[in-house]
Amino acid sequence: MDFAAARASLVGHLSTEIKDKRVLAVISRIPRELFVLPELQHLAYEDEPLPIGLDQTISQPLIIALMTEALELSGEEKVLEIGTGSGYQAAILAELARQVITVERLPALAKSAQKILASLGYTNVEVHQAGETLGWPAQAPYQAIMVTAAAPEVPTDLLAQLAIGGRMVIPVGSRYVQDLYKITRGKKKNKIKNLGGCRFVALIGKDAWEED
Ligand code: SAH
Repeated sequence: MDFAAARASLVGHLSTEIKDKRVLAVISRIPRELFVLPELQHLAYEDEPLPIGLDQTISQPLIIALMTEALELSGEEKVLEIGTGSGYQAAILAELARQVITVERLPALAKSAQKILASLGYTNVEVHQAGETLGWPAQAPYQAIMVTAAAPEVPTDLLAQLAIGGRMVIPVGSRYVQDLYKITRGKKKNKIKNLGGCRFVALIGKDAWEED
């Protein structure tokens, strides 16, 4: 299969909705087929979510692009991602920001993501096994936070790790359907924008959902 052609065609499709050229350029560089299960590689450039094992999924490219665009990255940021999964989103962030800290709850996924990110030469990404507190407080504050699993509400532990003026994107809603929120942290009040409906796997932990 011609992955480069499939990737170019996906980017053409995304460009009808995504205006940030840097986001589109990065998607047209990163080999998404390496982040999906070998038997699903032929679907790597369909605009749909795909299973990555252990009941988790890599998000649909359009949602990934929308969330990335909403973070308004200039290249200087320290970014936190919750839910490393395959590592694909972390690779995108690594190309658009200075430093990426990504945390994953499931050790097997953290390990395989770390391996692929290292093999592709990303030296500005740290993959951590998630601890008790959501996120990674040790290196806060972050200028941008991306949450790639759904929460019942915006977790205060995560908001506390966002810098003033920083942006967070997070799916908020029920376990099965959510709205994508963009939160801009203010000195006193936060700005919240609803970017539309979405469907993510559950964020597990304190301030989120219990394991099944
Ligand atoms: N961003 C990923 C997709 C993530 S799927 C990618 O690009 O492939 C959501 C991930 O969030 C799952 O791997 C799940 O294990 C993880 N997750 C769920 N709750 C978590 C928590 N509290 N901390 C860190 N990761 C969590």
